[in-house]
Amino acid sequence: MKSIDYHRPRSLDEAWRLADSVPGARFVAGGTDVMVGLKNKALRPGALISLRAIPGLARMENGTETRIGALATIGDIAADPVISERYPVLVQACRRLGSAQVRNVATVGGNLCNASPCADTAPPLLVLEARVRIEGPSGKREMALDEFFRAPGETRLSPGEVLTEVVLPPPAPAARGVFFKLGRVHMDLAKASVAALVEMDGKRCKRARFAAGSVAPVPLRLREVEKVVEGAVVDDKLIARAQEAAMKGVSPITDIRSTAEYRRQIVGVFVRRAIEALSKVGV
Ligand SMILES: Cc1cc2nc3c(=O)[nH]c(=O)nc-3n(C[C@H](O)[C@H](O)[C@H](O)COP(=O)(O)OP(=O)(O)OC[C@H]3O[C@@H](n4cnc5c(N)ncnc54)[C@H](O)[C@@H]3O)c2cc1C
Repeated sequence: MKSIDYHRPRSLDEAWRLADSVPGARFVAGGTDVMVGLKNKALRPGALISLRAIPGLARMENGTETRIGALATIGDIAADPVISERYPVLVQACRRLGSAQVRNVATVGGNLCNASPCADTAPPLLVLEARVRIEGPSGKREMALDEFFRAPGETRLSPGEVLTEVVLPPPAPAARGVFFKLGRVHMDLAKASVAALVEMDGKRCKRARFAAGSVAPVPLRLREVEKVVEGAVVDDKLIARAQEAAMKGVSPITDIRSTAEYRRQIVGVFVRRAIEALSKVGV
């Protein structure tokens, strides 16, 4: 194996200088995707620039909003009592990501920047309407996570830019969430996943957010399902319409994990189960 220079900058400025000076340099956080890419030769970076020694990037802050540093590990997030209380749907998804060993090093920023359609943190963060904070040599910006993914493996990050934080709006006290994932075995990338966040007022759904993974080129909000459910009285007919909208709203592929048709079915079933479960809470 050809050797690769490994840098461990202590500041973002230093990381940007390195990224600018080495053609094909790649940032690395936990390395759980990067190392697989190196091993199977899908990645041939000019150098690796670790983000792990940059102070503050793993910080988690719970104020009015919650700010999760991009270098926070999936394990850190799953173990945080405030995040567990405020955003249980995110914690459910974190607990389904990989093994304990993977969760101890894999970061939320890496999961999003890797831009896999099956990234487990993406559907819950989409229903929570998370924003991402991006910092680069030419400045800082924030965007809705919904706009961040471009295509499999591609994001809106420009060369040299670092995802520094995931920002979660304050939780709606009455909102209840759920995350469903199906893999070939328990520890596997998703054949399909669905996250839902629903606020009920008796039998009427006041607010609904749905998102899915592994059923389109990017993790996506199921807006047609939201249109069916939001403002409506939840009954069997509505659930059937929502299930149909979910199946119509996705564009899965067939690959080694599943067929397109099965993925479409699963998304419909997960949406149905989510509405059935969440519409009962508190009634
Ligand atoms: C055995 C195993 C099981 C797995 N199971 C799952 C699973 O069940 N669900 C799932 O979703 N994933 C799974 N993964 C994939 C992986 O663990 C996750 O995607 C993880 O969150 C990636 O984070 P990382 O910090 O390791 O990223 P890295 O490998 O360090 O980086 C991934 C990509 O993001 C870029 N990057 C990382 N951080 C930043 C940043 N802050 N700013 C800009 N670019 C950045 C890197 O340049 C690279 O392109 C698994 C991986 C393995 C090896």
